[in-house]
Amino acid sequence: MPEPPIDDDESVERMGFLLTLRRRGISDQAVLRAMDEVPRERFVDGDFSDMAYADRALPIACGQTISQPYVVAYMTERLALRPHHRVLEVGTGSGYQAAVLSRLAREVVSVERYRTLAEQARERLQALGYNNVEVVVGDGLAGVPARAPYDRIIVTAAAEQVPAALLDQLADNGVMVLPLGPHNGAQHIIKLTKSSTGVTRENLIGVRFVPLLPGQAQEL
Ligand code: SAH
Repeated sequence: MPEPPIDDDESVERMGFLLTLRRRGISDQAVLRAMDEVPRERFVDGDFSDMAYADRALPIACGQTISQPYVVAYMTERLALRPHHRVLEVGTGSGYQAAVLSRLAREVVSVERYRTLAEQARERLQALGYNNVEVVVGDGLAGVPARAPYDRIIVTAAAEQVPAALLDQLADNGVMVLPLGPHNGAQHIIKLTKSSTGVTRENLIGVRFVPLLPGQAQEL
């Protein structure tokens, strides 16, 4: 069987995808490798598959969105993941961010308030062989205490304040990255680092995320 040509449309598109991430300042090689490895087209709805490698958020089921690749890479880079880390993600959505995390950490627990999204994400992750991700249906504002503490926590929906339960479930020397701000206003990514002397906060880039809402979704 001949090798497929290297300059086919898909590989050109995916080279452009990585180039955009580099140009925008993502420099961690392990993060770039993970972004290269995870097929984003498997996480977007069929209607949008031709836009899977564009640097933009796209709609998914339940009125939610799969985040923009740059923001996924940026938040992942800020987490400074190590291969032994256990990570909690709040807001599974499509499962894409969880897939990227799974390439860089030992174990990922991801919690989603919509059962439909959680089930779809679980199936996708399984089909891709990403076996170190556990998807849980529930209210991520409460974290997933049964699996705590977490070396790293990432929240992928905008919080109006830092959820106290998540800070409690963060290990000592742990890092949490989340979008913070009003639901329809200016939100920023913030990075919290927990140490024996307290929590330090860094304010990072401006973003726009769907809201972090309390409780498990009543609709599917
Ligand atoms: N990380 C996702 C982005 C999904 S958008 C991806 O890569 O595709 C944010 C998700 O957070 C939505 O699916 C939304 O339903 C979920 N969400 C919002 N509030 C939540 C909460 N309290 N607990 C769990 N999930 C929540």
